[in-house]
Amino acid sequence: MLELTTLRVGEYGTNCYLLTCPRTHRGLLVDPAADPDAVLEMCRRVYVTRIVLTHGHHDHYALGLGRVQATIHAPMGMHPADAEAFGIHPDFPLEDGRILRVGHFPVKVVHIPGHTPGSIALHFDRRAIVGDAVFPGGPGHTQTAAALEQSLFSLQRTVFTWPNDTTFYPGHGDPGVVGDVRPAFQAFLARHRPADLYGDVTWEM
Ligand SMILES: [Zn+2]
Ligand SMILES: [Zn+2]
Repeated sequence: MLELTTLRVGEYGTNCYLLTCPRTHRGLLVDPAADPDAVLEMCRRVYVTRIVLTHGHHDHYALGLGRVQATIHAPMGMHPADAEAFGIHPDFPLEDGRILRVGHFPVKVVHIPGHTPGSIALHFDRRAIVGDAVFPGGPGHTQTAAALEQSLFSLQRTVFTWPNDTTFYPGHGDPGVVGDVRPAFQAFLARHRPADLYGDVTWEM
């Protein structure tokens, strides 16, 4: 099984994740947001073959990626929609359905637009790193009512099709379990929503 290490960095408490194959010590680094010294320390015994950004928001890469990449020289990938939206130049594109190998283990890219146009999750065994697409308490922040609707539609087709015992690891704060959150998500979808609802929305509204 892939090992998952979490490091909380920067003023927004962004979660930087490291996935490691315990047999080959190859790793995939996700959102090296800030505090590059601590991120590099976390990667010290790991051969990081790729870096992935879950989405293009500053608090997920701006204060860490440059120095981390200058030291470990791993290529960085993200979804093309966020590369375009935020003017970032990835080394390789990450489209929906793409399989990344981390040593012996596959990790699947899942596109979840809404929080940003190119938000992605990385799905592996019964776990997923979801960036800011969803949190235990609600969907990720949205900037328009249309983006919230897109986010809900995306989550319905991705995260909430996963088995109940799937643990999801968000970009900030603690992980959640799909089965624990599903009732609140479904209740939210069933309730009447004001047409102008967006921003920091919780399942309880
Ligand atoms: Zn974000
Ligand atoms: Zn964030």
